[in-house]
Amino acid sequence: MRGCIAAMKIKVLKFGGSSLASGAGFLRVKHIVDSEDARCFIVVSAPGKRYKSDVKVTDLLLASKEDATAFERAADRFKAIALELAAVGGVGGATAADAVKAALEEICAGLSADPTEAYLASRGEYLSAVMMAALLARPFVDAAEIIAFSEDGVPDDTRTVATARHILSSHKTAVIPGFYGSDTNGNIHTFSRGGSDITGSLVAAAVQADIYENWTDVSGVYDRDPQNCPDARRYHYISYEDMRRLAGAGAAVLHPAALDPVQQAGIPIRIRNSFRPSDEGTLISDGNSEEFFK
Ligand code: ASP
Repeated sequence: MRGCIAAMKIKVLKFGGSSLASGAGFLRVKHIVDSEDARCFIVVSAPGKRYKSDVKVTDLLLASKEDATAFERAADRFKAIALELAAVGGVGGATAADAVKAALEEICAGLSADPTEAYLASRGEYLSAVMMAALLARPFVDAAEIIAFSEDGVPDDTRTVATARHILSSHKTAVIPGFYGSDTNGNIHTFSRGGSDITGSLVAAAVQADIYENWTDVSGVYDRDPQNCPDARRYHYISYEDMRRLAGAGAAVLHPAALDPVQQAGIPIRIRNSFRPSDEGTLISDGNSEEFFK
């Protein structure tokens, strides 16, 4: 692992489920993270869809309260990724496979205690981060220790930033699960769906990052859906405000609640594509949006 040294830039990177849907995805992420020393804090989602009709790991886990086979199918997704990593991922891959196997056994052993839906839903991000930390040979920091919720499940950003700043100040680098946190009793709560974006933003605010890189499966923010409109135009830059409007109107590229923590801290976001890492993406920051914003 390359070190992240104090005087240099700090980048927080968040990888979404589409970037982590397979062993190949995990290895792509490793390549991206290892390619720059500044890429210090890594937030990961649970594995998403591999193809259109596939089921996201989080959906399997949410179904597992009612349907025991759904948990098995979620576990199988991790076992398949572990096999791929063990086969082609070198020493890190083998360590990652062992780490996720042990974590899965630990979770399975606790299933008879009737865990809450939030706990079950959170295990996708937990397992992703355990596996990624081992693959990258970087420390794992549990989101339950740094992302704060009230007892009734309301996110507490002020307490999160203070706690995360304190805990992460003793880490030059870490891998952190997205999507969940805990209350003062240790009970797990989750953000709304897509909430790993919020975790990344809170971590960026806590470590006073220079930039929050949000890695997804599109090359930035477009004026129309690029999947359906071949002439959709990509913004090179867009303001927080206009991004908030687009996200509120349904642009799925970023969770709208992920804007506040970084905007308040004056940290720009860059949306990037893990499948096309040399694409420049879209920069979201203070100031004006590119002219063709409507
Ligand atoms: N895995 C969660 C979801 O599918 C959270 C996330 O990916 O951000 O919504």
